[in-house]
Amino acid sequence: IDSVVIVGAGHAGVELAHSLRKEKFEGRVVLISAEAVYPYQRPPLSKDFLKGGGDNPLLLKAEALYEKMGIELKLGRTVAGIDRDARTVTLDDGEVIAYDRLALATGARNRRPPVPGLEDPAVLELRDLADSRRLLERLEGLSRVAIVGAGFIGLEIAAFLAEKGKSVEVVELASRVMARAVSEPVSDYFLSYHRGLGTEIHLETGVTAIAHEADGVRVELSDGHALQADAVLLAAGVVPNVELAEAAGLAVADGIVIDDRLRTSDPAIFSLGDCASFPCAYLDGRQIRLESVQNANDQARLIARQVMGGDEAYAALPWFWSYQGEARLQIAGLGIGYDSTVLRGDPAEDKFSVFLYRDGRLVSVESVNAPGDHMASRKLIEKGIEVTPEAAADPATELKKLIV
Ligand code: FAD
Repeated sequence: IDSVVIVGAGHAGVELAHSLRKEKFEGRVVLISAEAVYPYQRPPLSKDFLKGGGDNPLLLKAEALYEKMGIELKLGRTVAGIDRDARTVTLDDGEVIAYDRLALATGARNRRPPVPGLEDPAVLELRDLADSRRLLERLEGLSRVAIVGAGFIGLEIAAFLAEKGKSVEVVELASRVMARAVSEPVSDYFLSYHRGLGTEIHLETGVTAIAHEADGVRVELSDGHALQADAVLLAAGVVPNVELAEAAGLAVADGIVIDDRLRTSDPAIFSLGDCASFPCAYLDGRQIRLESVQNANDQARLIARQVMGGDEAYAALPWFWSYQGEARLQIAGLGIGYDSTVLRGDPAEDKFSVFLYRDGRLVSVESVNAPGDHMASRKLIEKGIEVTPEAAADPATELKKLIV
């Protein structure tokens, strides 16, 4: 293998380029980014970057490191097509680049629900650096903000805005916050936490239309009420960027479909990160897509080893975090399909963990302000060490000591 071309320079693409060098790959590495700025970390965009006022995004790697590592970084360039027979990609300006192995790390973009009025300039979103800066530029002129979606990002921004003294209302279709990602006790805790910050949260409510008004917008809700806001922040999930793969005839189904070696339906083409749908080792091989830094990084490292001749199934333990105001949520494993939960610690003391079991097996631990529980449970789940509900609930159990 003489050349690897990587499409997309988010967490996944950048980690892959550098991992190839760490694995001593000596061929050509080309990393193509539609964004014109040096690759940066996305999580801070809804957290510390906002708090810091928008200066200095956290770069994924120092600018000088690309050249030093012999990575050809092409910024502000989009891959427009793939010719699988010729093994080439064509860029938007017509440049053609040949590959032996191609990696699609095209990420995801915000989902835009079919709501009339969404194109109003008062509607903001938060996926990239430019979005984050746009929000900060508008900040001073905002007193009332409506947020569509009570997922991680919607709630992180809600906490930031509430701390800035803004009046915040969050509209969520599901019956609890972060319903897709956490168990009920954790949803309940965060619902009260945000309400305690003064944020209003409307559950089981949809946004049906956004109407322009002289001094902002009117956000119409499915329950017949309407909110007045200076801005609307759209945080209703993402859709994977699969169009390039689809046009090239690769298998696509809620993501670019890959196997446990992270190969697409064309063995010369890998895919990874937010755009890829992979068979999850923790869900009996069910195809899922994960939107997390951990997943992007671990998939990148595995692909680098595959390029160097390795043959290994992807089985990294998923983990996540979300910082909302003072509350630090960390999740180890996947709770999907859990059938019972055990509480460790006390939500009233703002420090606890929820242990999630499926068919009697520990599958996930959600920790709030309990980083020790999180670190230990990552190891326990990874190693398949069972923690009985009794042991989990007992504050005297030292989780660390169970790791063998
Ligand atoms: P992306 O980071 O989306 O990168 C894909 C890149 O590919 C983009 O730059 C895109 O422009 C480019 N691209 C797409 N198509 C083409 C093309 N044809 N040609 C060239 N370039 C192309 N995860 C966590 O684990 N913890 C967090 O706390 C957390 N917070 C987050 C906060 C925010 C505001 C956001 C937006 C995300 C957050 N995430 C968090 C999710 C995490 O950032 C993503 O999982 C991660 O960025 C995925 O990396 P990726 O490389 O797969 O995709």
